[in-house]
Amino acid sequence: MTYDVIIAGTGPAGLMTAEKTTSYGLKTLVLEKRQGVTYSLMGELVTDKALNFLRVKPDSEYIGNKYTSIVGESLDTGSNIVVDRTLLGNSYLFDEDNCQELMRDRALSDGAEFRYKARVGSVVKEGDSVVGVKYNQSEEERANLTVGADGSFSRVSETAGFTHPKWLLSYGYRFKLTNCKNVDPNVAYFYVGKDVGLGYLWLYPRSETEVNLGIGRVPSSKTNWHALPPMQDVLRKYMKEHPETQNAKIAAVNGGVVPCAGIIPRFTDAGVALCGNSAGQVSSIVGGGVTTCFHAGQVLAKHAKRMVDSGDFSKKSVGEYEKEYRKSKLASNITNTGKGMWAVSKYAMHNDPIAAAEIVLGQLDAKTLNELIQGHASVATIMTLMSDFLPMVAKIGVGYLRAIAVSGF
Ligand SMILES: Cc1cc2nc3c(=O)[nH]c(=O)nc-3n(C[C@H](O)[C@H](O)[C@H](O)COP(=O)(O)OP(=O)(O)OC[C@H]3O[C@@H](n4cnc5c(N)ncnc54)[C@H](O)[C@@H]3O)c2cc1C
Repeated sequence: MTYDVIIAGTGPAGLMTAEKTTSYGLKTLVLEKRQGVTYSLMGELVTDKALNFLRVKPDSEYIGNKYTSIVGESLDTGSNIVVDRTLLGNSYLFDEDNCQELMRDRALSDGAEFRYKARVGSVVKEGDSVVGVKYNQSEEERANLTVGADGSFSRVSETAGFTHPKWLLSYGYRFKLTNCKNVDPNVAYFYVGKDVGLGYLWLYPRSETEVNLGIGRVPSSKTNWHALPPMQDVLRKYMKEHPETQNAKIAAVNGGVVPCAGIIPRFTDAGVALCGNSAGQVSSIVGGGVTTCFHAGQVLAKHAKRMVDSGDFSKKSVGEYEKEYRKSKLASNITNTGKGMWAVSKYAMHNDPIAAAEIVLGQLDAKTLNELIQGHASVATIMTLMSDFLPMVAKIGVGYLRAIAVSGF
């Protein structure tokens, strides 16, 4: 049997694509290497955009908590900056498991087929077209469109021949803590610091006694990476040093990898498309992928419907998804922040990024910081920043050029 669509992976990208393709009546098969949809981490801090894509209400069972402000703070000096909801909009802690089950159940009720413990090994090709996948070594299924939503180390991407010349990965760990004390449930924290490295540590409260404590870090070079304490040690140190978490229990540990250098150069070809982390569709500076995956999944599903209706799965036809996606505001924000992240990682090969972060925390106002993180800072803002932070901007430029000279990029 030939499916309309085969989707590899049940993260936010795969589940949203599946929910939508089935809602359009497309015969959809979903393959997931794990035992179920809730066995993978989906991401946790989101804004109203994600809720709108998912069509859920802020006060529903899909939301674990709501924040009134977000604080960025240095673990070393205590200097901080407060971003409140007037700038950021509402921020929520997602209930990942409930949200994943919701999308799976919507897809199931519209006729999707899910197979778990189904590890995709490669795509199947006929001529220049992808016509399906091989999974669990000997099994094969065919589809008119194969979707690689199988994360940062996508087998679909690799075997379909997509390349990532600027693949910059952020490695993340997260503890779910219970038994905390006197946590303010209204405030979420982002921390930078010398032990954290090029990245940040976060604390997202679920209640006064439960929080998610995590760390994400980009290796600017092997030497820099090995000079830093292991990420789990940084989280444990944080727990020890903060009275709220001193006696907390680690109820769960998750980890994962997020691409941070923007969208890859090409993510569609005849009979195949990538979606989510596999395509680099992640907000680069904060490593946020939930909203961007939902968005990409919806654009892709709409085009899958068009392709099925026209019977055209050629490179050009699948490429219409990529074309529309790249024109979107979310995609251009990812591209902008990706370029920034790439330059900063090169700078960090030869300079101290934490010292730079301290300057930023000490001098930048919340509005500008928010614009930079979101990737939509205006030309005027960028010009002002360049003059305000001229020595640092020059250093970033020099660090970048030195990295190019050393690495041959
Ligand atoms: C620690 C951490 C915290 C994060 N916090 C946030 C946050 O607060 N907010 C936010 O917006 N984003 C956050 N993110 C980012 C977000 O989680 C990712 O960007 C998002 O999950 C990417 O979705 P995806 O569907 O593309 O890939 P993934 O979520 O990685 O899902 C890929 C799926 O494919 C499956 N798979 C992989 N290989 C195969 C294979 N060969 N065959 C079959 N199945 C396969 C995997 O098991 C998995 O289920 C965080 C990431 C990490 C690591």
